[in-house]
Amino acid sequence: MIKVKTLEEIELMRESALIVSKTLGMLATELKPGVTTNQLDKLAETFIRDHGAEPGFLGLYGCPSTLLTSVNEAVVHGLPTDKPLEEGDIVSIDCGTLKNGFYGDHAYTFELGEVAPETKKLLEITKQSLYEGIRAFTNGNRVGDVGFAIQNFCEAEGYGVVRELVGHGLGKKMHEDPEMPNYGRRGRGKKFVEGMVVAIEPMINLGTHRVKQLKDGWTIVTADGKPSAHFEHDVALINGKPEILSTFAYIYEALGIASDEEKEFRQQDLVL
Ligand code: MG
Ligand code: MG
Repeated sequence: MIKVKTLEEIELMRESALIVSKTLGMLATELKPGVTTNQLDKLAETFIRDHGAEPGFLGLYGCPSTLLTSVNEAVVHGLPTDKPLEEGDIVSIDCGTLKNGFYGDHAYTFELGEVAPETKKLLEITKQSLYEGIRAFTNGNRVGDVGFAIQNFCEAEGYGVVRELVGHGLGKKMHEDPEMPNYGRRGRGKKFVEGMVVAIEPMINLGTHRVKQLKDGWTIVTADGKPSAHFEHDVALINGKPEILSTFAYIYEALGIASDEEKEFRQQDLVL
């Protein structure tokens, strides 16, 4: 059952989404070759607690960490390790927060130094596909419209769209109805209504869409060992239009990137 939120609840969710966005911005300043994902995990946990929130993943479904860190061919659900990150790696960092009883859930794929051009393009297209999906999250549209927008955009580049893992409704639970696949058919699936909040999160592979799970019981990797990218925003349906609650602005500030990509999806000014 889809749980729609009041405007007051959506403001609480914006707070959770902004804490997790800030956390990723802080991590952006720490990410360099030699750092380990376990070190990042500890920094993130402290940062989230210092901001009056709880880590959203820690303990959820038995998750042992604050972050899920997926390096190179890892798609999602990578557990932090003591292996130092290297120049040329990409790392998808997925993070959750819980504050005022509501979850935030947000992910970004970072580059360490110079990465291969084809990998750089995968990240760019995957991030663009996130906005293609968000643009289709409007009153009266359906789950399949978002999935179609993402799939169509990424498959046009020859990329593989992961089927086994999907976006989701977000609220007092990390995973609420509806499931939000990154593939689909226009006009199919549950209808979007005012007050819905969803996490839209394309997981896109450079090669095959097929994936497998490692023996750790968590990490999902591409079947062909090629890189994978993951970007995620929390989005509310307000006045019939998508309103992004999370933001990459803290990451861009840390990395010195100028971008107005989220502007189209804001009905109120972002207060950083
Ligand atoms: Mg996530
Ligand atoms: Mg999610």
